[in-house]
Amino acid sequence: ALPDPGEAPVRFHSDALEAAQRDDLELNQALRGVTQRGELFLAYQPKLRMPTGEVIGAEALLRWEHPGRGLISPGRFIPMAEASGEILAIGDWVLEHSMQALTAWLAEGRVPADFSLAVNVAARQLCREGFAQDLLARLRRHGLPVEAFSIEVTESGLMADLSQARKQLAVLDREGIRVAIDDFGTGHSSLAYLKTLPVSTLKIDRAFVTGIAEHADDRQLAATVTALAHGMGCDVVAEGVETRGQAECLIAMGCDIGQGYLYARPLPAEAFLHWCADARASAETVPTG
Ligand code: C2E
Ligand code: MG
Ligand code: MG
Ligand code: MG
Repeated sequence: ALPDPGEAPVRFHSDALEAAQRDDLELNQALRGVTQRGELFLAYQPKLRMPTGEVIGAEALLRWEHPGRGLISPGRFIPMAEASGEILAIGDWVLEHSMQALTAWLAEGRVPADFSLAVNVAARQLCREGFAQDLLARLRRHGLPVEAFSIEVTESGLMADLSQARKQLAVLDREGIRVAIDDFGTGHSSLAYLKTLPVSTLKIDRAFVTGIAEHADDRQLAATVTALAHGMGCDVVAEGVETRGQAECLIAMGCDIGQGYLYARPLPAEAFLHWCADARASAETVPTG
C-alpha cells in the first residue's frame, strides 16, 4: 500500500520537537545554580580606537563549560536564563568576576591605566530595583573608578520596561557610568524614545557591518547610524569587524571604535592579556613623529 503522505513527516516532526524540548528542559535544569559549580568563565574581546588601533578596552563575554556537553554558547543559554530568572544570579556572577579580573589587571599593569571593561546586562537585571546602586557599590568595593567599567544593554532590553530602565540609567549617568546600546538597528525601538535615554555609545550590530565593503546600501545604512549617533553625542562602536575592507569603510564614515575577529576573537583571560601585551609591543615599534 502507498504510505500515508501525512504520517511520516508529522511523526518525524513531533519526535524532533520532543527531543528539542527534552534538551531545553535538561539545559534549564543544569542552569539552576550554575554559578555555584564553577562552570562559568569570561572571555574578553578587545575594542580598538579607529583608525589608530589603540586598545581602549574590552567586552566580557560569558562562557558556559557544561561538564557533559562542553561549551554552550550564550546565544543558547542566556535567553533560557532570562526566561527562568537564573539570569539574576548569573548577572551578579558576571559583575563580580569581571570586576575582580579588571582590578587585578590594573593593579598588575597588564592593561593600560585608562582601559575600560564592558559587560552585557540583561533586561531583567537592569530593571531590578537597585541595580544601579548595587553596581556602584560593587565598583567602590573593588576600588575601581567609574570610567573603568561600562555596561551594554540591547534595544529590546531597554524597551522591556522603559520607565524602570530610565530610572536605573539616570543613576548610572549621574555617577558617570557609560552605557552602550547593543545590537543597535536590530530591535524595533523608537528613536524618539532612545534619544531621551542617557546613553553614551551605540554599537552597530554585526548584521550591518558584514556587507559594508560590498554593498552600497549597507554602507549607507551604517553611515547614517554613525551620523545619527554622533548627532546625539554618542560614540559609535562597530561589532563583528572581520575584514580590512570593512574596517576601512568604517574608518571612512567616522566610526570611533571597532571590535571583531579582524583584531581578536573573544579570548580566555590569560590569552587576552598576552594579546594586549603583543598589541602594546607592536604599537611601540611604530614611529610616532
Ligand atoms: P553581543 O553582546 O552582541 O556580543 C557580540 C557577539 O558577537 C559575541 O558572541 C562575539 O563573540 C561575537 N563576535 C564578535 N566579533 C565577531 C566577528 O568578527 N564575527 C562574528 N561572526 N562574531 C563576532 P557571543 O560571545 O556568542 O555572545 C552572544 C550574545 O550573548 C552577546 O551578544 C550577548 O547578547 C549575550 N551575552 C554574552 N555574555 C553575556 C553576559 O555576560 N550577560 C548577558 N546578559 N548576555 C551575554
Ligand atoms: Mg555586547
Ligand atoms: Mg552586540
Ligand atoms: Mg550582537
